[in-house]
Amino acid sequence: MTAIVRAIVDTAALRHNLERVRATAPGSKVLAVIKANAYGHGIVPTAVALAGADGFAVARLEEGIALRAAGLRHRVLLLEGVFAPEQLRLAAHHDFDIMVHEPEQLALLEALPAARPYRVWLKVDTGMNRLGFKPGQVRQAIERLQACPAAAKPVTLVTHLANADDRDDAATTEQVALFERLVEGVPGERSIANSAGLIGFPAARGGWVRPGLMLYGVSPFADGTGESLGLRPAMTLATRVIAVKQVEAGERVGYGGVWRASRPSRLAIAAGGYGDGYPRNTAAGTQVLVAGRRATLAGRVSMDMIAVDVTDLPSVSVGEEVVLWGPGVPVEDVARAAGTIPYELICGVSQRVHLDVR
Ligand SMILES: *Cc1c(COP(=O)(O)O)cnc(C)c1O
Repeated sequence: MTAIVRAIVDTAALRHNLERVRATAPGSKVLAVIKANAYGHGIVPTAVALAGADGFAVARLEEGIALRAAGLRHRVLLLEGVFAPEQLRLAAHHDFDIMVHEPEQLALLEALPAARPYRVWLKVDTGMNRLGFKPGQVRQAIERLQACPAAAKPVTLVTHLANADDRDDAATTEQVALFERLVEGVPGERSIANSAGLIGFPAARGGWVRPGLMLYGVSPFADGTGESLGLRPAMTLATRVIAVKQVEAGERVGYGGVWRASRPSRLAIAAGGYGDGYPRNTAAGTQVLVAGRRATLAGRVSMDMIAVDVTDLPSVSVGEEVVLWGPGVPVEDVARAAGTIPYELICGVSQRVHLDVR
């Protein structure tokens, strides 16, 4: 293997994390969310590793088609639904479940002959104000689906939580209560919780949970890491040292010269930068592992490289392994140091990084 920057995916960690979901929500079915190339982990190998899930959720038709092309026969939900007769035809051909969150999508189904009904998930907007029927439209949408021969009965009823990653925000409990009120007495399974919802809000677990982030071993909460939740990080972003150099006290390092050596320093230059998905905003001082030992980022992240202060690791030499995130370097911490969330980091590993699924 010649690739220097690698995203190494540990499928045993994926399976372990699915077990954690099962243990946390033992009464729920698990719809594993593997949109966006399984949050950067590779959609097909991730789905194969998570074959023990009860179904998969993807955002786009092409993502679902990739799963069928790989021979996966699970239920696959298109989270954004379909918008044209041709997409509806493809959804039938591939036996996808479809989300209906918009009157246009209802009309599309109503225009169909009853041939083979679709498994429909009806989305209710309880305050996220992104997708879903507003509270005043929900009953009518349910009635239309119940009367629609192209929709299999009963439909599954869905809502999405806007702020479950803040365990103290009362809005989540209000969203769950509003949802239950709106669908009270309506037959069909319920689905509310993403990762944060299913960990933090037992009342949100319901029939189907929809974990994404926690399957990858990452905490959805603003503080802490997946490890404290019993999860194992599935992705390691690894690279190698490509140069080692000595600088004098006072010398400046990298673009803009924003980092200045406070003592005679040894720097390891490692391949990997924002062109690989390691964010440019990552602050100097952020931890990485060099040959398994802690060191810190020095200066700005470049497109293809970073500088690491290895003054206290005198044996470091060219070719040694550098871990940018993974076990021992929580991606949650890197995200905080870069002013973003771990979702963006793992999804944002770029095309030129070699994906090595083990
Ligand atoms: C992405 C997504 C999820 C998964 O969210 P996580 O926070 O990654 O667990 C669940 N439900 C819907 C509707 C989504 O779009």
